[in-house]
Amino acid sequence: MKIMEFPGNLYVVAAPSGAGKSSLVKALLELDARLMVSVSHTTRKPRGQEQDGREYWFIPEPAFRAMIAHGDFFEWAEVHGNLYGTSRAAIEARLKAGEDVVLEIDFQGALQIKQLFPMAVLIFILPPSWSELRQRLLRRGEDAGEVIEQRMVNARHEVAQARHFDYIVVNALFETALFDLKTIVHAQRLKYAAQRRSRPAVFDALQLS
Ligand code: 5GP
Repeated sequence: MKIMEFPGNLYVVAAPSGAGKSSLVKALLELDARLMVSVSHTTRKPRGQEQDGREYWFIPEPAFRAMIAHGDFFEWAEVHGNLYGTSRAAIEARLKAGEDVVLEIDFQGALQIKQLFPMAVLIFILPPSWSELRQRLLRRGEDAGEVIEQRMVNARHEVAQARHFDYIVVNALFETALFDLKTIVHAQRLKYAAQRRSRPAVFDALQLS
């Protein structure tokens, strides 16, 4: 079976940092037991309470490069000076088992996924305004002033890619944005091709191809 025929759905969520992507995806996963998040590999160092195998698989750059050479990644990209990648193993087994997988990755990775897997659903989360994005980055208190300014510059470049995504969620109000995300996930599951993949017995019984 090819990946296009696997019963699970693949959702890809991208956003500039500070738009609320991680909190929204976390809340979405808590509401939906059929959704799994894929754990990426990265060359960056763990931050705070992060654990190997939970937030990321933290690996040294030579090991990451070896995985690239072996074709182990579905997609990979350099983001803010570190390498990040989604391993094939992380998602193929799950989609094959009929689970729905969410990738929380940057826009470069999202666009690579769409090329390989056109059925993937690409969702871009936008902040309501530039000033609100800056406020959120400041409130988060994680970054020094110049890092915030760099994130704002990067954000303009990232947001310009939103037109290539299937869906846009504006995160002005958290609950509304979460509802929008749930709706997108649900609508995808009701598409003909998705139903065909996830309920082959029904379609076969009805002699639907
Ligand atoms: P952070 O280091 O803050 O966890 O993540 C930095 C950026 O890298 C975020 O936009 C995050 O979504 C993205 N990212 C995380 N994992 C992957 C991945 O596997 N592939 C790609 N392309 N980007 C990723």
